[in-house]
Amino acid sequence: MNLLYKSTRNSDRTVTASEAILKGLAEDGGLFVPEQLPKLDVTMDQLKNMTYQETAYAVMKQFLTDFTEEELRHCINSAYDSKFDTEVIAPLVKVGDVYHLELFHGATIAFKDMALSILPHLLTTAAKKNHVTKDIVILTATSGDTGKAALAGFADVPGTKIIVFYPKNGVSKVQELQMVTQKGENTYVVAIHGNFDNAQSGVKALFEDKELEKELDAAGYQFSSANSINIGRLVPQVVYYVYAYAKLLQNGEIKAGEKINVTVPTGNFGNILAAYYAKQMGVPIAKLICASNENKVLFDFFQTGKYDKNREFVLTSSPSMDILISSNLERLIYTIAGQDAKKNKELMEKLKTEGAYEITEEMKAKLSDFAGGYATEEETARIIRETYADTGYVMDTHTAVAAYVCRQYKEAGNDTTKALIASTASPYKFARSVMTAIDEKYADMDEFDLVDELEKVSQVEIPNAVKEIRHAEVLHTRECDADKMKETVKEILRIEV
Ligand SMILES: *Cc1c(COP(=O)(O)O)cnc(C)c1O
Repeated sequence: MNLLYKSTRNSDRTVTASEAILKGLAEDGGLFVPEQLPKLDVTMDQLKNMTYQETAYAVMKQFLTDFTEEELRHCINSAYDSKFDTEVIAPLVKVGDVYHLELFHGATIAFKDMALSILPHLLTTAAKKNHVTKDIVILTATSGDTGKAALAGFADVPGTKIIVFYPKNGVSKVQELQMVTQKGENTYVVAIHGNFDNAQSGVKALFEDKELEKELDAAGYQFSSANSINIGRLVPQVVYYVYAYAKLLQNGEIKAGEKINVTVPTGNFGNILAAYYAKQMGVPIAKLICASNENKVLFDFFQTGKYDKNREFVLTSSPSMDILISSNLERLIYTIAGQDAKKNKELMEKLKTEGAYEITEEMKAKLSDFAGGYATEEETARIIRETYADTGYVMDTHTAVAAYVCRQYKEAGNDTTKALIASTASPYKFARSVMTAIDEKYADMDEFDLVDELEKVSQVEIPNAVKEIRHAEVLHTRECDADKMKETVKEILRIEV
């Protein structure tokens, strides 16, 4: 069966999976979605014994139907290899009475590696299949983790250039150092004077700029995206939810068919949407619990049916979730609108002009798979401290938001469903916030002294990703105003022409 993709804002045209990956965003500004969500065609009994790579093939072949088996297996094997510091790729760790799915064992120690280590392979394969001769320019806005993971994935990949925009004062020290020390002739990093939403809106505007598209075309370039709006990011993320369920089953932690709850620390709504897709494919998931930090626009949305970004943007200790416009929510809105592109488009236009929209009661009724919660800064720090005291396990601030919301959900409903938490980053990436959560006495220490202290406290070896940047040379110093992103991109590309 050949699965085709449509834009969430226009249902007239369909594209293949490889075309959707190449384009990133649809021409009308919509996101690509599969015409229908595929089901798994293997049983949990079969999945139980599969490696991560085998699971990836079983899941991804259902979505990327125009890739040959050879192409897809090649992409998978090139991505999920020794770049990960554990053979199982995504280990499950039991912490107290919940299961943490550790998604941070890749090259840049955040879960973005799960998708961004394969995206360059999917994209270059897609380019070949579609006879693309131009160079592909990957434009990416980052709240901290996507940037480095995309840079690492695309560095020196022939036929590509990558430009990353990050909010100058909106990322952790380690995140910033990881990006500005990135090697590779084709990599560009720009700090913008603004927040993540400015960066993301700016990148979206560049994608929709027809005049710029012509100029690029003449210079031999075309844009694509490494953000989670690209279906090539989303599909690889479905894999680890299937894998986690199968491993819980294999380890005897759950019985066949037993439903689990999944809590995901959420920003752009990509990761939790992947869990929703896994559920649609047949994974027994009861609730998808969307965990927010103090930028709790999604929590309010699940409570009231009203999405309202007109509020103060808070800089928190979980910067990768400091987002008020969760792009991937559009895919869910489209689904609960009954795949009605016109209705979805209306709502998204309202979001653009008024900063808010409200869904109908009928649509709201279709959100019963989801629950929402949030953690304040104080609650986030508290659960890091308490979990460490109780179990010795040290988690990062984003994972902590999810752990807090998961606990709150369990307690509020006396819910005994087994709980899986998507653990999205290594605590080393946020050493300062993590260590001061454990003990205030660390507050005055230098960043890398904190890293050493964290090693003592957690008894987990300092990851290579952190060792590498300790003495690395800063290679990128470019900055720009949020309204000068277009000029900056042109400047970068003209230099290279
Ligand atoms: C990106 C990120 C998130 C949020 O994921 P979304 O898919 O954008 O919802 C959470 N935690 C960490 C560490 C991240 O890097």
